[in-house]
Amino acid sequence: MNGIIIYAIVFLYGIVIGSFLNVCIYRIPEGTSVVTERSHCMKCNRQLKWFELIPVFSYLFLGGRCRTCKTRISIQYPMIEALNGILYVLVFYLYGWNSFGEIFLSIAYCLIMSALIVLSVIDLRTNIIPFGINIFILVIGLVIVLVKYFYFEKSMKLVLEHIIGFFAISFLLFLLFYLSRGRAIGGGDVKLMAAAGFVLGWQNVLLAFFLGCILASIIHPIRMKLSNANSVLAFGPYLSAGIAIAILYGQNLIHWYIDTFILI
Ligand SMILES: [Zn+2]
Repeated sequence: MNGIIIYAIVFLYGIVIGSFLNVCIYRIPEGTSVVTERSHCMKCNRQLKWFELIPVFSYLFLGGRCRTCKTRISIQYPMIEALNGILYVLVFYLYGWNSFGEIFLSIAYCLIMSALIVLSVIDLRTNIIPFGINIFILVIGLVIVLVKYFYFEKSMKLVLEHIIGFFAISFLLFLLFYLSRGRAIGGGDVKLMAAAGFVLGWQNVLLAFFLGCILASIIHPIRMKLSNANSVLAFGPYLSAGIAIAILYGQNLIHWYIDTFILI
């Protein structure tokens, strides 16, 4: 099938699921159901009509305001929808859709991207990474390893790489967590790097953690200067960015690193 059509369909799925992620971001920390309640305006509580619920496009069409009370709708909604759509397209572009194996892997990595978006925004708002999201990532990781094993490479070496990945960073972070009694790093970060380590394998999780630390050390001081409100470092978003980059470009970056610095 024509590539452009595939990418358009994937993008539409991405933004529709993205609008569901917006619901998750607000309802998971509250513990309310993510499916039963109808969507409503945060200010005037009016239930939204179908044409106000179209991802990205409704925001543009409504000019970013509620139709009745004219309250500004947060730009966060369309941004998260668009980001999710773009990440889905990138995943399908890089992992392909030409066989069952490729399609399963692409879908699995898309779901991981969505989980990373949700946990990042929740961590920014509440400084907590919900345990359920880490479990979700670990379960998808299990699916990824099974798909890789049965469709691509029937070797125990592959399975072992992912099992080592589970411990590679998380064990270090757990020691840090234990020795500092949770002051140096959050328990949610430790579990995230365990689950993500299983998804990525040990090489890519080292890369993900390295990238997360670099991003945090550059972006966090800038954010503190600009807002000076929240001084507590929410590490989740930076780790998530590192994990996302490792999923998309990890193999390329690792090969580039080895070629440039090790095999001269
Ligand atoms: Zn309203």
